[in-house]
Amino acid sequence: MVHSVYSETDVFLRELISNASDACDRLRYEAIANPELLVEDPELKIRIRADKSDAMLTISDNGVGMDRQELIDNLGTIARSGTRAFVQKLAQAKDGSGLIGQFGVGFYAAFMVADRIEVTSRRAGSAETWVWRSTGSAGFEVAPADPETAARFSRGTEIVLHLKKDAKKYLDEYEIERVVHAYSDHIQFPIMLIPGGKRPTGEPRQLNSASAVWQRSKSELKPEDYAQAYRSICGAFDEPAVTLHYRAEGRQSYAVLLFVPSGSLFDLYDPARKSHLKLYVRRVYITDDASLLPSWLRFVRGVVDSEDLPLNLSREMLQNNPQVAAMRKAITTKVLAELESVASKEPEKLATVWSEFGAVIKEGLYEEPDRREQILSLARFTSTKGTGRTLAQYVDELRENQTEIYYLAGEDLDRLKANPKLEAAKARGIEVLLLTDPVDALWTSLRLDFKGKGFKSLSQGEVDFSLVPLAEDAEAEAAAGTTDTPAVDESAVIAAVKLALGERVSDVKASRRLTDSAACLVAGGTGPDRELERLLAKQSRASGT
Ligand code: ADP
Ligand code: MG
Repeated sequence: MVHSVYSETDVFLRELISNASDACDRLRYEAIANPELLVEDPELKIRIRADKSDAMLTISDNGVGMDRQELIDNLGTIARSGTRAFVQKLAQAKDGSGLIGQFGVGFYAAFMVADRIEVTSRRAGSAETWVWRSTGSAGFEVAPADPETAARFSRGTEIVLHLKKDAKKYLDEYEIERVVHAYSDHIQFPIMLIPGGKRPTGEPRQLNSASAVWQRSKSELKPEDYAQAYRSICGAFDEPAVTLHYRAEGRQSYAVLLFVPSGSLFDLYDPARKSHLKLYVRRVYITDDASLLPSWLRFVRGVVDSEDLPLNLSREMLQNNPQVAAMRKAITTKVLAELESVASKEPEKLATVWSEFGAVIKEGLYEEPDRREQILSLARFTSTKGTGRTLAQYVDELRENQTEIYYLAGEDLDRLKANPKLEAAKARGIEVLLLTDPVDALWTSLRLDFKGKGFKSLSQGEVDFSLVPLAEDAEAEAAAGTTDTPAVDESAVIAAVKLALGERVSDVKASRRLTDSAACLVAGGTGPDRELERLLAKQSRASGT
């Protein structure tokens, strides 16, 4: 773990607080159309109480609450992809470690510290209070709350954790405060600690600063504040690789706080491929489904808070809203500009970001033609000249008479490097890009160019290097006679090979692309690239389509 000062199980509290905060957000959103919901008990809050005598930790909120069916649907199943990933990991992990460092483990994280959980909830506007009970593995039950409990409940959710023996440290008020500070400080609603548990020994104490970080000015925020906000907003454990915080003014005004994670994201290849930026309107959370960034920037996480959008805009209407479309365009431009600035100021950082998310960014090459040039300029490649190569470098170092950008695609870098098709290029000092991402199959088929140079596969059709002079060392070797071969009768050899291979090949040709190897397989000039076909087949197997 990057942050070994924190214990891995701390994440449960962050998850429960974030659910409580979501529930408050959702109630505030519903109250836009139905203000009555908030009339009684208008101050949205999260409360934490620790009862040492019976090892119970209680987290409650006066948010939207859940009815019976919602308790069953939301807590009773592990249909959510994040939860499913987490539960799978939980089953695989031998010692319970290495479970986190992932995003969005959700409600089930509570079973890392509790062997029994009771959730009592009343949906805002409903008269019924329900209790959900579970011991984790053994399923769950849902029953009406007893009259006494129901009587003290007006709305919201109360979660009681019966802590495991080795998790009793979370009954310590100091410990609770530490975890809240570390992960949940920026939560917008007050998080109150009720000292002394069931029989309070003092006034409730607010543990967080409860201000929207993105509304604060850049000058008053330190890198730690951003890191904290990142972990809390994005449910992450690492440091953000890139932070982008600005306020747009002009035709529309909105605050933006975005992060590029430094670690991997479990949901990066979810079939929906959605961007998850959270949209707020004047501090009220609306949705994370507003497509504020294109899907090829879906690894960027964070918040956009608009001053202009109407609050009562339905989530469905957001999809076709021209203001949202304009924001999306502007934010995309900003993100790319930020990545460009990182590329010039901290090239190593860009290389890490690229190695984590480059495959996703390259989807933009076919999804957004307008951004192609920018994306190709940002792109980093492994080539026969090394790693982290840019196309600008490639084009700057073109060999005499070289007019194309050459590439070779395949699943495995080591095998690519050993591919005999590279030999003739090597002999002439021609750089070859080695492409191993499945998405490379798609964008290379678009026949793009960079600075007027097209992309050309070495494993497809005719490749003629004869106009490019031999590299100096190859020339020296040739002069020394080491690569001299006795003249052969090509047509006789070809006839013999054709006879031996029969129908298994469509043609046999003498080639100038090899120097050391005797033969190689090549796809026809017009058919699809063999290696790319293989990559695509692999990708569709992996995604189950
Ligand atoms: P996520 O928060 O990513 O949706 P979780 O596993 O954390 O996933 O929670 C699952 C669902 O349970 C939530 O989406 C929400 O509908 C419901 N839920 C959890 N906690 C609460 C709560 N305190 N109040 C209302 N609903 C809740
Ligand atoms: Mg959650």
